[in-house]
Amino acid sequence: MAKRDYYEVLGVERSASKDELKKAYRRLALQNHPDKNPGNKEAEERFKEASEAYEVLSDDQKKAAYDQFGFAGVEGMGGQHDYSSTFRGFEDIFGGGDFGSIFDSIFGGGFSGGRRSSGGGPGGARQGSNLRYDIEISFKDAIFGTKVEIQYSRNEPCPACKGSGAAGGSGKKTCPTCQGAGQVRQSAGFFSMASTCPTCGGEGSIIEHPCKECGGSGNQKKRQKIMVTIPAGVENGKRVVIPRQGDAGSNGGPMGDLYVFIRVKPHEHFERQDYDLYCAVPISITQAALGAEIHVSTLDSKTIKVKVPPGIQNGKMLRIPGEGVPSGGRRGNLYIKLMIQIPAKLSKRGKELLEELSKVEGENESPRPIPLSELAG
Ligand SMILES: [Zn+2]
Ligand SMILES: [Zn+2]
Repeated sequence: MAKRDYYEVLGVERSASKDELKKAYRRLALQNHPDKNPGNKEAEERFKEASEAYEVLSDDQKKAAYDQFGFAGVEGMGGQHDYSSTFRGFEDIFGGGDFGSIFDSIFGGGFSGGRRSSGGGPGGARQGSNLRYDIEISFKDAIFGTKVEIQYSRNEPCPACKGSGAAGGSGKKTCPTCQGAGQVRQSAGFFSMASTCPTCGGEGSIIEHPCKECGGSGNQKKRQKIMVTIPAGVENGKRVVIPRQGDAGSNGGPMGDLYVFIRVKPHEHFERQDYDLYCAVPISITQAALGAEIHVSTLDSKTIKVKVPPGIQNGKMLRIPGEGVPSGGRRGNLYIKLMIQIPAKLSKRGKELLEELSKVEGENESPRPIPLSELAG
């Protein structure tokens, strides 16, 4: 099933206030609480969906990431979540005590991080966490594409125990606390809740002799170096997803993905809008009046000849096709804004010539005001 937009899940506008989010979530949580709908998979699914949506949208940082990048923005933000702060004010629904447990039982433990990929039973394969890496690239590299080598650390299977977490061929045994169920039930507040077994962390089994190298986790942090290809035309704030380069999974689960977030440094002369580039070029009053051929260097360090038509007004734009941002084998436009420079200092001869021009053309001593909108932008 495709994931539904978090705002849609809660049935609120994108502009909803914290109070509105809270109200919407409260209604859905009461309606679909698993203990009120025993055995109802659909209700459980809706409860889970609403809780995840609320968990993200009630957190300013996650909400901002979600608003900008969608699900990918909040995936792998990871870490152990403090449910008690997110779900404060819902004690009557979840019971007063440790309400992380209900979410752990539903989300399979730390739901913003790794997810179970095989139905979520005890001992199931779990995909590793997605990781985030931020890079900054130059404006030019963003337009034409580049390759960047990045170094980061990720969990990899421990070589001593081959990821099993068990020392030298020793095996696993059924967890004595939950008898292999991975969950324990306890009553809290109005509901009785299933929570992740504290002894085995939901696995249903425990390692008899933990591997000394990794302490039984089966994973080891390792530095990793990879080459990332940044496609031509990438925009500031976009990301490149590199599949299966995140943390190692557990119990044979696949690796998570690596999300490379791209920040583009501004350029000294050029600006970008969609597939077009913009720059400003100064010209003299005589070039503007008489017309000229000027030489402009483009972003790819070529020099192009640009014809300035006679009588051009200050601030007019010239469009040069094919010198913009590459996209699908074509390139957008380069727009050159002509800025007419009035000489601040004149030579003696220059002054004489301009005075002569002034006499010949005659100056209008009572110019009629015009609306600002008639000035060239
Ligand atoms: Zn190990
Ligand atoms: Zn257990």
